[in-house]
Amino acid sequence: MSMDVFAELSALFPEAGDRLRENEKMSEYTTFRLGGPADCLFLPAGIEELRLALAFADKNKIQVTLLGRGSNVVVSDQGIRGLTVMISEQMSKIDRAGDTLIADAGASLAALAGAAANYSLCGLEFASGIPGAVGGGVMMNAGAYDGCLADALIWTEYLDENNELKTLLADKHDFGYRSSFFTGSSKVIVRSAFSLSPGIYNDIIAKMADLAARRRASQPLEKPSAGSAFKRPVGYYAGKLISDCGLKGYSHGGAGISEKHAGFIINQGGASASDVLAVFCHVQRTVYNETGVLLEPEVRFAGDWSDDLSVLTGCHSI
Ligand SMILES: Cc1cc2nc3c(=O)[nH]c(=O)nc-3n(C[C@H](O)[C@H](O)[C@H](O)COP(=O)(O)OP(=O)(O)OC[C@H]3O[C@@H](n4cnc5c(N)ncnc54)[C@H](O)[C@@H]3O)c2cc1C
Repeated sequence: MSMDVFAELSALFPEAGDRLRENEKMSEYTTFRLGGPADCLFLPAGIEELRLALAFADKNKIQVTLLGRGSNVVVSDQGIRGLTVMISEQMSKIDRAGDTLIADAGASLAALAGAAANYSLCGLEFASGIPGAVGGGVMMNAGAYDGCLADALIWTEYLDENNELKTLLADKHDFGYRSSFFTGSSKVIVRSAFSLSPGIYNDIIAKMADLAARRRASQPLEKPSAGSAFKRPVGYYAGKLISDCGLKGYSHGGAGISEKHAGFIINQGGASASDVLAVFCHVQRTVYNETGVLLEPEVRFAGDWSDDLSVLTGCHSI
Protein backbone atom coordinates (compact mmCIF):
# COMPACT_ATOMS: atom_id res chain seq x y z
CA MET A 1 0.00 0.00 0.00
CA SER A 2 1.33 3.48 -0.83
CA MET A 3 2.40 5.75 2.00
CA ASP A 4 -0.01 8.34 3.41
CA VAL A 5 2.25 11.33 2.84
CA PHE A 6 -0.09 13.76 4.61
CA ALA A 7 -0.28 11.60 7.75
CA GLU A 8 3.49 11.10 7.84
CA LEU A 9 4.18 14.81 7.37
CA SER A 10 1.56 15.73 9.99
CA ALA A 11 3.53 13.63 12.48
CA LEU A 12 6.81 15.21 11.33
CA PHE A 13 5.45 18.77 11.55
CA PRO A 14 2.94 18.82 14.44
CA GLU A 15 3.06 22.63 14.48
CA ALA A 16 2.34 23.05 10.78
CA GLY A 17 -1.41 23.65 11.16
CA ASP A 18 -2.94 24.79 7.90
CA ARG A 19 0.46 25.06 6.24
CA LEU A 20 0.05 21.34 5.60
CA ARG A 21 -3.03 20.40 3.60
CA GLU A 22 -4.47 17.26 2.09
CA ASN A 23 -6.27 17.01 -1.23
CA GLU A 24 -6.00 20.77 -1.73
CA LYS A 25 -7.38 22.37 -4.91
CA MET A 26 -4.51 24.04 -6.74
CA SER A 27 -6.91 26.47 -8.42
CA GLU A 28 -6.71 28.38 -5.12
CA TYR A 29 -2.93 28.67 -5.34
CA THR A 30 -2.29 29.51 -8.98
CA THR A 31 -2.92 32.70 -10.93
CA PHE A 32 -4.60 30.67 -13.70
CA ARG A 33 -7.25 29.66 -11.12
CA LEU A 34 -7.52 26.11 -12.42
CA GLY A 35 -6.08 22.65 -11.85
CA GLY A 36 -6.92 19.63 -9.74
CA PRO A 37 -5.93 18.83 -6.16
CA ALA A 38 -2.49 18.33 -4.69
CA ASP A 39 -2.48 15.10 -2.67
CA CYS A 40 -0.37 16.83 -0.04
CA LEU A 41 0.52 20.53 -0.04
CA PHE A 42 3.16 21.92 2.31
CA LEU A 43 4.04 25.58 2.81
CA PRO A 44 7.29 25.53 4.81
CA ALA A 45 7.87 28.37 7.26
CA GLY A 46 11.63 28.28 6.94
CA ILE A 47 14.65 26.53 5.57
CA GLU A 48 14.78 23.88 8.31
CA GLU A 49 11.21 22.73 7.61
CA LEU A 50 11.94 22.80 3.90
CA ARG A 51 15.02 20.63 4.35
CA LEU A 52 13.20 18.15 6.56
CA ALA A 53 10.34 17.83 4.07
CA LEU A 54 12.74 17.31 1.16
CA ALA A 55 14.74 14.73 3.15
CA PHE A 56 11.52 12.89 4.01
CA ALA A 57 10.48 12.84 0.34
CA ASP A 58 13.90 11.67 -0.79
CA LYS A 59 14.09 8.88 1.80
CA ASN A 60 10.61 7.62 0.92
CA LYS A 61 10.93 8.18 -2.84
CA ILE A 62 8.02 10.62 -2.88
CA GLN A 63 7.79 12.83 -5.93
CA VAL A 64 8.20 16.53 -5.08
CA THR A 65 6.66 19.36 -7.10
CA LEU A 66 8.14 22.73 -6.21
CA LEU A 67 6.22 25.95 -6.66
CA GLY A 68 6.63 29.57 -5.68
CA ARG A 69 3.56 31.78 -6.04
CA GLY A 70 2.07 29.69 -8.85
CA SER A 71 2.09 32.51 -11.42
CA ASN A 72 3.84 30.72 -14.26
CA VAL A 73 2.22 27.32 -14.11
CA VAL A 74 -0.70 25.23 -15.38
CA VAL A 75 -1.63 22.46 -12.95
CA SER A 76 -3.31 19.47 -14.63
CA ASP A 77 -6.97 18.67 -14.03
CA GLN A 78 -5.86 15.42 -12.35
CA GLY A 79 -3.84 17.42 -9.84
CA ILE A 80 -0.45 16.66 -8.32
CA ARG A 81 0.60 13.35 -6.78
CA GLY A 82 3.17 13.04 -4.01
CA LEU A 83 4.29 16.17 -2.18
CA THR A 84 3.77 19.72 -3.44
CA VAL A 85 6.00 22.27 -1.74
CA MET A 86 5.15 25.94 -2.18
CA ILE A 87 7.76 28.46 -1.11
CA SER A 88 5.58 31.47 -0.71
CA GLU A 89 4.56 34.12 1.84
CA GLN A 90 5.49 31.85 4.79
CA MET A 91 9.16 32.30 3.75
CA SER A 92 9.25 35.92 2.68
CA LYS A 93 11.60 37.97 4.86
CA ILE A 94 13.41 40.87 3.19
CA ASP A 95 16.49 42.35 4.88
CA ARG A 96 18.58 45.35 3.99
CA ALA A 97 22.35 45.69 4.24
CA GLY A 98 23.36 49.06 2.81
CA ASP A 99 22.40 49.11 -0.86
CA THR A 100 21.78 45.35 -0.86
CA LEU A 101 18.44 43.65 -0.30
CA ILE A 102 18.44 40.01 0.80
CA ALA A 103 15.13 38.28 0.15
CA ASP A 104 13.79 34.85 1.07
CA ALA A 105 12.67 32.82 -1.93
CA GLY A 106 8.98 33.20 -1.07
CA ALA A 107 9.02 37.01 -0.94
CA SER A 108 6.90 38.40 -3.73
CA LEU A 109 8.69 40.39 -6.41
CA ALA A 110 6.19 43.18 -5.76
CA ALA A 111 7.20 43.27 -2.07
CA LEU A 112 10.87 43.24 -3.02
CA ALA A 113 10.40 46.13 -5.45
CA GLY A 114 8.27 47.91 -2.82
CA ALA A 115 10.96 47.48 -0.15
CA ALA A 116 13.58 48.84 -2.55
CA ALA A 117 11.40 51.90 -3.19
CA ASN A 118 10.84 52.47 0.54
CA TYR A 119 14.62 52.50 1.05
CA SER A 120 14.98 54.83 -1.97
CA LEU A 121 16.94 52.18 -3.82
CA CYS A 122 16.50 51.81 -7.56
CA GLY A 123 17.07 48.89 -9.92
CA LEU A 124 14.05 46.70 -9.27
CA GLU A 125 11.22 48.95 -10.50
CA PHE A 126 10.64 46.60 -13.46
CA ALA A 127 9.79 43.73 -11.06
CA SER A 128 6.95 45.49 -9.25
CA GLY A 129 4.26 44.16 -11.61
CA ILE A 130 5.51 40.57 -11.92
CA PRO A 131 3.26 38.42 -9.72
CA GLY A 132 5.83 35.73 -8.83
CA ALA A 133 8.19 35.16 -5.91
CA VAL A 134 11.95 35.67 -5.71
CA GLY A 135 12.77 31.92 -6.06
CA GLY A 136 10.53 31.37 -9.08
CA GLY A 137 11.73 34.69 -10.45
CA VAL A 138 15.44 33.87 -10.17
CA MET A 139 14.87 30.41 -11.64
CA MET A 140 13.04 32.01 -14.62
CA ASN A 141 15.23 35.14 -14.72
CA ALA A 142 11.97 37.07 -14.64
CA GLY A 143 12.05 40.39 -16.41
CA ALA A 144 9.96 43.12 -17.89
CA TYR A 145 10.43 46.32 -19.87
CA ASP A 146 14.04 47.40 -19.32
CA GLY A 147 15.19 44.89 -16.70
CA CYS A 148 15.52 41.34 -15.49
CA LEU A 149 16.60 39.87 -12.14
CA ALA A 150 20.01 38.94 -13.55
CA ASP A 151 20.85 42.68 -13.71
CA ALA A 152 20.70 43.12 -9.93
CA LEU A 153 21.44 39.69 -8.49
CA ILE A 154 24.61 39.19 -6.36
CA TRP A 155 24.22 35.68 -4.98
CA THR A 156 21.71 32.92 -4.35
CA GLU A 157 21.54 30.37 -1.54
CA TYR A 158 19.99 27.08 -2.56
CA LEU A 159 19.59 23.47 -1.50
CA ASP A 160 21.35 21.17 -3.91
CA GLU A 161 20.28 17.65 -4.93
CA ASN A 162 21.79 16.33 -1.68
CA ASN A 163 19.79 18.81 0.38
CA GLU A 164 22.95 20.76 1.22
CA LEU A 165 22.93 24.53 1.47
CA LYS A 166 25.15 26.14 -1.18
CA THR A 167 25.86 29.69 -2.28
CA LEU A 168 26.08 30.61 -5.95
CA LEU A 169 27.59 33.90 -7.09
CA ALA A 170 25.90 35.94 -9.83
CA ASP A 171 28.34 35.05 -12.60
CA LYS A 172 27.68 31.33 -12.11
CA HIS A 173 23.92 31.63 -12.60
CA ASP A 174 24.15 30.99 -16.34
CA PHE A 175 21.30 33.45 -16.87
CA GLY A 176 19.55 33.47 -20.22
CA TYR A 177 16.20 34.64 -21.48
CA ARG A 178 13.76 33.16 -18.92
CA SER A 179 16.33 30.58 -17.84
CA SER A 180 19.13 30.09 -15.33
CA PHE A 181 21.46 27.56 -13.72
CA PHE A 182 18.37 26.32 -11.81
CA THR A 183 16.17 25.61 -14.83
CA GLY A 184 15.35 21.94 -15.21
CA SER A 185 17.09 20.94 -11.98
CA SER A 186 15.72 19.91 -8.59
CA LYS A 187 17.76 22.55 -6.77
CA VAL A 188 15.69 24.74 -4.48
CA ILE A 189 16.40 28.45 -4.14
CA VAL A 190 16.03 29.71 -0.57
CA ARG A 191 17.42 33.25 -0.61
CA SER A 192 18.87 35.77 -3.04
CA ALA A 193 20.70 39.06 -2.66
CA PHE A 194 20.27 42.04 -4.97
CA SER A 195 22.56 44.99 -5.44
CA LEU A 196 20.74 48.30 -5.92
CA SER A 197 21.68 51.95 -6.33
CA PRO A 198 20.64 54.92 -4.24
CA GLY A 199 17.85 56.83 -5.96
CA ILE A 200 15.10 59.34 -5.35
CA TYR A 201 11.97 57.92 -3.76
CA ASN A 202 9.51 59.94 -5.87
CA ASP A 203 11.29 58.99 -9.11
CA ILE A 204 11.24 55.29 -8.19
CA ILE A 205 7.54 55.40 -7.32
CA ALA A 206 6.78 57.32 -10.53
CA LYS A 207 8.62 54.74 -12.63
CA MET A 208 6.76 51.89 -10.95
CA ALA A 209 3.43 53.66 -11.49
CA ASP A 210 4.26 54.27 -15.15
CA LEU A 211 5.13 50.59 -15.71
CA ALA A 212 1.95 49.50 -13.89
CA ALA A 213 -0.15 51.77 -16.11
CA ARG A 214 1.54 50.39 -19.24
CA ARG A 215 0.82 46.86 -18.02
CA ARG A 216 -2.84 47.64 -17.26
CA ALA A 217 -3.26 49.20 -20.70
CA SER A 218 -1.74 46.32 -22.63
CA GLN A 219 -2.30 43.13 -20.61
CA PRO A 220 -5.52 41.31 -19.62
CA LEU A 221 -4.84 41.61 -15.88
CA GLU A 222 -8.56 41.31 -15.12
CA LYS A 223 -8.56 37.66 -16.30
CA PRO A 224 -6.72 34.74 -14.67
CA SER A 225 -3.62 33.69 -16.62
CA ALA A 226 0.01 32.77 -16.17
CA GLY A 227 1.35 35.80 -18.02
CA SER A 228 2.97 35.43 -21.44
CA ALA A 229 2.13 31.96 -22.68
CA PHE A 230 5.13 31.64 -24.99
CA LYS A 231 8.72 32.85 -24.90
CA ARG A 232 9.69 35.63 -27.27
CA PRO A 233 11.19 33.94 -30.33
CA VAL A 234 14.44 35.51 -31.60
CA GLY A 235 13.56 38.32 -34.01
CA TYR A 236 9.79 38.25 -33.37
CA TYR A 237 7.13 38.97 -30.77
CA ALA A 238 4.97 35.98 -29.86
CA GLY A 239 1.87 38.14 -29.42
CA LYS A 240 2.23 39.72 -32.87
CA LEU A 241 2.78 36.36 -34.58
CA ILE A 242 -0.32 34.96 -32.86
CA SER A 243 -2.36 38.01 -33.73
CA ASP A 244 -1.15 38.04 -37.36
CA CYS A 245 -2.32 34.43 -37.66
CA GLY A 246 -5.83 35.60 -36.79
CA LEU A 247 -5.88 33.83 -33.44
CA LYS A 248 -6.90 36.78 -31.23
CA GLY A 249 -10.10 35.71 -29.51
CA TYR A 250 -9.69 32.01 -30.42
CA SER A 251 -11.05 29.84 -27.64
CA HIS A 252 -11.44 26.23 -26.60
CA GLY A 253 -13.79 25.48 -23.72
CA GLY A 254 -13.16 28.11 -21.07
CA ALA A 255 -9.66 29.03 -22.25
CA GLY A 256 -8.78 31.45 -24.99
CA ILE A 257 -6.41 33.95 -26.52
CA SER A 258 -6.84 37.40 -25.01
CA GLU A 259 -8.34 40.06 -27.31
CA LYS A 260 -6.23 42.63 -25.45
CA HIS A 261 -2.86 40.88 -25.80
CA ALA A 262 -2.54 37.84 -28.05
CA GLY A 263 0.50 36.64 -26.09
CA PHE A 264 -1.74 35.77 -23.14
CA ILE A 265 -3.84 32.61 -22.84
CA ILE A 266 -6.58 33.43 -20.34
CA ASN A 267 -9.11 31.60 -18.24
CA GLN A 268 -12.35 33.13 -19.50
CA GLY A 269 -14.31 31.42 -16.75
CA GLY A 270 -14.48 27.75 -15.85
CA ALA A 271 -11.48 26.75 -18.00
CA SER A 272 -9.95 23.35 -17.38
CA ALA A 273 -6.24 22.68 -17.66
CA SER A 274 -6.94 20.55 -20.72
CA ASP A 275 -8.73 23.53 -22.34
CA VAL A 276 -5.57 25.57 -21.75
CA LEU A 277 -3.39 22.83 -23.20
CA ALA A 278 -5.66 22.63 -26.27
CA VAL A 279 -5.24 26.38 -26.85
CA PHE A 280 -1.45 26.11 -26.44
CA CYS A 281 -1.35 23.31 -29.02
CA HIS A 282 -3.63 25.05 -31.51
CA VAL A 283 -1.59 28.25 -31.33
CA GLN A 284 1.75 26.49 -31.60
CA ARG A 285 0.59 24.43 -34.60
CA THR A 286 -1.11 27.32 -36.41
CA VAL A 287 1.78 29.75 -35.97
CA TYR A 288 4.28 27.11 -37.07
CA ASN A 289 2.26 26.15 -40.15
CA GLU A 290 1.72 29.76 -41.19
CA THR A 291 5.09 31.33 -40.34
CA GLY A 292 7.60 28.52 -39.75
CA VAL A 293 8.29 29.89 -36.25
CA LEU A 294 8.02 27.34 -33.43
CA LEU A 295 6.76 29.06 -30.30
CA GLU A 296 8.18 27.60 -27.10
CA PRO A 297 5.93 27.68 -24.03
CA GLU A 298 7.17 29.97 -21.25
CA VAL A 299 4.52 28.69 -18.84
CA ARG A 300 5.38 25.45 -17.04
CA PHE A 301 3.15 22.41 -16.61
CA ALA A 302 2.76 20.71 -13.23
CA GLY A 303 1.06 17.55 -12.06
CA ASP A 304 -0.26 14.40 -13.55
CA TRP A 305 -0.72 14.90 -17.31
CA SER A 306 -0.23 11.25 -18.38
CA ASP A 307 1.02 11.44 -22.00
CA ASP A 308 -0.94 14.56 -22.93
CA LEU A 309 2.03 16.92 -22.83
CA SER A 310 3.83 15.20 -25.69
CA VAL A 311 1.48 17.08 -28.06
CA LEU A 312 3.05 20.43 -27.08
CA THR A 313 6.59 20.78 -28.43
CA GLY A 314 9.20 22.23 -26.07
CA CYS A 315 6.99 22.36 -23.00
CA HIS A 316 8.60 22.10 -19.56
CA SER A 317 6.94 19.94 -16.95
CA ILE A 318 7.78 20.30 -13.27
C1 LIG B 1 -0.43 38.65 -15.11
C2 LIG B 1 0.97 38.09 -15.17
C3 LIG B 1 2.01 38.87 -15.64
C4 LIG B 1 3.30 38.35 -15.70
N1 LIG B 1 4.30 39.16 -16.16
C5 LIG B 1 5.55 38.69 -16.21
C6 LIG B 1 6.63 39.52 -16.65
O1 LIG B 1 6.45 40.67 -16.99
N2 LIG B 1 7.87 38.97 -16.70
C7 LIG B 1 8.13 37.69 -16.33
O2 LIG B 1 9.29 37.27 -16.37
N3 LIG B 1 7.13 36.87 -15.90
C8 LIG B 1 5.86 37.33 -15.82
N4 LIG B 1 4.85 36.51 -15.38
C9 LIG B 1 5.15 35.11 -15.07
C10 LIG B 1 5.59 34.81 -13.62
O3 LIG B 1 5.09 35.80 -12.72
C11 LIG B 1 7.10 34.70 -13.51
O4 LIG B 1 7.60 33.68 -14.33
C12 LIG B 1 7.55 34.42 -12.06
O5 LIG B 1 8.94 34.54 -12.00
C13 LIG B 1 7.14 33.04 -11.57
O6 LIG B 1 7.34 33.01 -10.17
P1 LIG B 1 6.47 32.07 -9.21
O7 LIG B 1 7.00 32.24 -7.84
O8 LIG B 1 5.02 32.35 -9.38
O9 LIG B 1 6.84 30.65 -9.78
P2 LIG B 1 5.88 29.39 -10.01
O10 LIG B 1 4.92 29.69 -11.11
O11 LIG B 1 5.32 28.92 -8.73
O12 LIG B 1 6.97 28.34 -10.55
C14 LIG B 1 7.60 28.60 -11.78
C15 LIG B 1 8.83 27.72 -11.89
O13 LIG B 1 9.80 28.11 -10.91
C16 LIG B 1 10.17 27.00 -10.11
N5 LIG B 1 10.40 27.50 -8.75
C17 LIG B 1 9.53 28.16 -7.96
N6 LIG B 1 10.11 28.46 -6.79
C18 LIG B 1 11.37 27.98 -6.83
C19 LIG B 1 12.46 27.96 -5.92
N7 LIG B 1 12.37 28.50 -4.71
N8 LIG B 1 13.62 27.35 -6.30
C20 LIG B 1 13.74 26.80 -7.52
N9 LIG B 1 12.74 26.79 -8.44
C21 LIG B 1 11.57 27.36 -8.09
C22 LIG B 1 8.99 26.02 -10.19
O14 LIG B 1 9.42 24.70 -9.94
C23 LIG B 1 8.55 26.24 -11.63
O15 LIG B 1 9.32 25.47 -12.52
C24 LIG B 1 3.55 37.01 -15.29
C25 LIG B 1 2.50 36.23 -14.79
C26 LIG B 1 1.22 36.75 -14.72
C27 LIG B 1 0.12 35.91 -14.17
